[in-house]
Parts: sequence; C-alpha cells; structure tokens
Amino acid sequence: MKIGFIGLGNMGAPMAANLAAAGHQVTGFDTAAPEPEGVIAAASAAEAARDADVVITMLPNGQILRSVAAQVIPAMPAGAVFCDCSTVDVDSARAVAEQARAAGLGALDAPVSGGIGGAQAGTLTFMVGGADADFARVAPLFGVMGQKAVHCGDSGAGQAAKICNNMILGVTMIATCEAFALADRLGLDRQKMFDVVSTSSGYSWSMNAYCPAPGVGPVSPADNGYKPGFASELMLKDLNLSQQAARSAGAETPMGALARQLYEDFVEREDGKGRDFSAMLPRFAGNMRQIGEA
Ligand code: NAD
Repeated sequence: MKIGFIGLGNMGAPMAANLAAAGHQVTGFDTAAPEPEGVIAAASAAEAARDADVVITMLPNGQILRSVAAQVIPAMPAGAVFCDCSTVDVDSARAVAEQARAAGLGALDAPVSGGIGGAQAGTLTFMVGGADADFARVAPLFGVMGQKAVHCGDSGAGQAAKICNNMILGVTMIATCEAFALADRLGLDRQKMFDVVSTSSGYSWSMNAYCPAPGVGPVSPADNGYKPGFASELMLKDLNLSQQAARSAGAETPMGALARQLYEDFVEREDGKGRDFSAMLPRFAGNMRQIGEA
C-alpha cells in the first residue's frame, strides 16, 4: 500500500519504519523529527498524503490533529482512509472523522497501547473506532505495527476505550502505591505484600505485571530508578482526557478525578516529571529524594 505517515516522533518513527520494512511505500512528514530508515521524506503533510491509500497520523494532541487533518484531508485521493493513531480527546476524533467522511474518505480513530517498546517491536494493541469497511482496509497495517486490533465501534470508540483503560490504570497504580506505603508503615515486608496481593483479590496489572516496588515482582521501571516506561506526564495527559470526556458525557468519575489531581501535583509540584508513573510509590513512601535526579 501507499502510506502517508505524519508525526515521526517516539512512537511514529518505529511504526512507520515497520510498515516500510514490511514492503509498503511509506512517505513521511514531521515538523521536527527526521524520517526513519526506509521512509521517503515529503516537504509537507499534504505532500505525504497526496497519493496515499491510507494516511496515518501520530501526533501530540487533538488541536494539532485538527490542524494537520485540515491540511491533509483536501489533498487525499477519494476513497483513501484517514487513520489517526494519536491519543486525543473524543470530540476531536469525531470532528476529524466527520470532516474526512464529508470529503469522501474513510476515517478511523485507532489509539494504541504498548508504548515505545511495543511500537519498535511491532506488538502494539490498537483500539479502533470507525466503519467496518475502513477497519477491514487498514487491518493488514495494524497487523504489521501491532499484535492485536479491536474494532470498538463507531468514530470515537477507540479513543473512548483508550481513556477508560488508562483511567483504570492511573487509579489502580495509585491504589497499589499507597497500599505499599501503608504496608511499609505497618512493618509488612514488600515481597510478602506482593506474594499475597498478586494472588489475592487486590491483584491488578499494576501489581502483577508492573510492580512499583523495586526488586519485587517482574522487572519493571521501579528496577531502573523509575526511568519511564510510561512517564507520569503522559499518564496525566490521559487522565485529563478522561475527565474532559466525563464532563462532556455527564459521567461521574470521582476516582478518575482524584487520580488526575494527584498526577498533576506529582508532575508539577512533586518532582514527578520525567519519572515513570509508578514513582508514585516513593512519593507516598516519602523517599523521592533517594531515587535521585529525573
Ligand atoms: P512525540 O512528541 O515523540 O511525537 C510527536 C511528533 O509529532 C513529534 O515528532 C512532532 O515533531 C510531530 N509534530 C508535531 N506537530 C506536527 C505537525 N503539525 N505536523 C507534523 N508533525 C508534527 O510523541 P509520541 O510519544 O510519539 O506520542 C505520539 C502520540 O502517541 C501521542 O498522542 C501520545 O499520547 C500517544 N502515545 C504515546 C505513547 C508513548 O509511550 N510514548 C504510548 C501510547 C500512546
């Protein structure tokens, strides 16, 4: 396929490189980052989109997505599919999809989980919103960039799934970290705490797969001085999106709201910026100083 790829940052560059390595013709554009190996450089976003069967965007936020979409959609050939893989607000995802469809194009919102490691290894999970026919056309590309693609529903459903998942993740990580800090105060050994909780009703991905206590459970960013991994500021971005969605949908999400507040404090006032989101454990345990410079 001919693919236009816009946004060649930490995630976009390896995703575009994997598509090129699989034999697709990938033309890329980024305002700052260089093209990865195998990707043809375009002078603008519109040029990258001109002959494309599929245009993929991997951009920082909904505002930038809207401005890139306004340049790219008029340049795309009729019948092509606009596929946004960024994490953005549901309203921007739906607005851009509507604009694409009005121009005779297909449209998908397809945010990912799996992080930079998953992008490099081609093992991302895609959560996809849009029409069946558009999903079917882009599915082979999801198969190159990832190991799983779930078609979640109409436009916006992919972003909805992503922010709901990450709201659960933020809340459970905080609960796991505050429980470890309480266990410390009660004189309970962290390994014993893990052995019990990871096989009891308190288990979760945060405890079992990404344990925030160094030296306990599988290897995680806690074992590497809390270097991300998944940075606290990215968790804050996703929690902000979930709260924006909750407000606009009229949903009550008190735990999500508190997690958002705690991550905002952590990132902006408590030296959490640049640290993995599991560094909430040293924050609750009162030993942030011991983990050194971010
Ligand atoms: P990044 O900042 O490394 O990459 C974004 C790229 O977009 C940059 O290279 C930037 O120069 C480029 N860009 C900005 N404005 C542009 C424009 N107008 N035209 C063309 N290019 C433009 O970010 P990232 O880590 O690659 O994340 C991208 C998206 O993926 C974000 O929405 C993020 O929330 C999401 N995401 C990231 C991770 C992760 O672990 N990094 C995991 C899952 C999802």
